Amino acid sequence: MPVIESEEHKALREAVATFAKNHPGADNRLFWQDAAKLGYIGVNLPEAYGGGGAGITELSLILEEMGAAGNPLLMMIVSPAICGTVISRFGTETQKRAWLPALADGSRMMAFGITEPDAGSNSHRITTTARRDGTDWILTGRKVFVSGVDIADATLVVGRTEDARTGGLKPCLFIVPRDAPGFERRRIDMELDSAEKQFELTLDDVRLPADSLVGDEDAGLLQLFAGLNPERVMTAAFAIGMGRFALARAVEYARERTVWKAPIGSHQAIAHPLAQAHIELELARLMTQKAAHLYDAGDDVGAGEAANMAKYAAGEACVKAVDQAVHTLGGNGLTREFGLARLITAARVSRIAPVSREMILNYVSHQTLGLPKSY
Ligand SMILES: Cc1cc2nc3c(=O)[nH]c(=O)nc-3n(C[C@H](O)[C@H](O)[C@H](O)COP(=O)(O)OP(=O)(O)OC[C@H]3O[C@@H](n4cnc5c(N)ncnc54)[C@H](O)[C@@H]3O)c2cc1C
Repeated sequence: MPVIESEEHKALREAVATFAKNHPGADNRLFWQDAAKLGYIGVNLPEAYGGGGAGITELSLILEEMGAAGNPLLMMIVSPAICGTVISRFGTETQKRAWLPALADGSRMMAFGITEPDAGSNSHRITTTARRDGTDWILTGRKVFVSGVDIADATLVVGRTEDARTGGLKPCLFIVPRDAPGFERRRIDMELDSAEKQFELTLDDVRLPADSLVGDEDAGLLQLFAGLNPERVMTAAFAIGMGRFALARAVEYARERTVWKAPIGSHQAIAHPLAQAHIELELARLMTQKAAHLYDAGDDVGAGEAANMAKYAAGEACVKAVDQAVHTLGGNGLTREFGLARLITAARVSRIAPVSREMILNYVSHQTLGLPKSY
């Protein structure tokens, strides 16, 4: 794995940064479609299905640069990274043809729903259940905090089927079209200034054809994790981009703003925390690149640990960078005009989703350090 970024990747960063900075960001859908035309949205999807044939390394780099330009696309975490990955790796030929070229060219988008009101971080406790009716599936359950369901053509829903031998429930993935009868959504009133909204979903006997099941009914967990590692890497990239954006605004301000004899940036009480934020974002990026490379190299297990650590590091670095950026601007940090205060809540998302800081610390305690479990 190259520790120093290749010239090709540097050039890609520059191209994305220029594109994202110059795009009139008001219309998120248009930004998505223009990014797709340039090959940015489907860069990780197989070439045979209209994608760029590259990996999560490139997809995460693109998302980070969009974020650093102040124009991130949250649904990139979900549509190409989770859903695109799962369908390319485990989908049927029909599913691949139906979805991958459209996800890549931006004409269709997918959301992803795993979180449930009574399960939360404990996804072993999810109760959305699929039962067979002839060759059809009938899906029943509830989901919460699912992003972008209104703009996505379908949601990849994590459900469970009953194991015929043990009677236990095993996870599996279903493509649920937005307009499927019985599939209802209610927008959650989030304190977030973001183009993508969150929804509570009700699945009330949603009837789905046999081909809605993605992958093997018996290997659902494995397939699910194939999508969750890219999700963590992408969330890390999202957080690093946001942190860089906030930090750049603060540095710009601190260079100019003078209330004594010299600009406030010359006071170490202002300069050092900004320098620290920069270092921590760089460190988080290094871990994110490691996780992306491991994933792209086919090492799902190695990528699992690295992706968790990257998400943790990036979430923490982002929250600190945003906090210090807001502080650096004094009163202006809380005005709408300077646009930093809205990042306070946005940054917190990277600490909570898709897996919280504590659940990552639990994972590292048990999986990496071999400590006993309390729950
Ligand atoms: C903006 C946003 C977008 C989202 N988008 C999606 C999406 O598109 N699809 C989707 O499926 N979900 C989505 N989520 C949901 C997100 O993944 C969950 O919020 C997250 O997994 C945490 O679950 P929870 O909110 O139920 O918290 P809980 O599980 O109730 O946890 C609450 C607190 O308790 C802590 N905690 C829980 N268990 C333990 C433990 N064993 N040890 C120590 N601490 C613990 C947690 O760390 C957390 O701080 C989104 C959430 C947000 C905020």
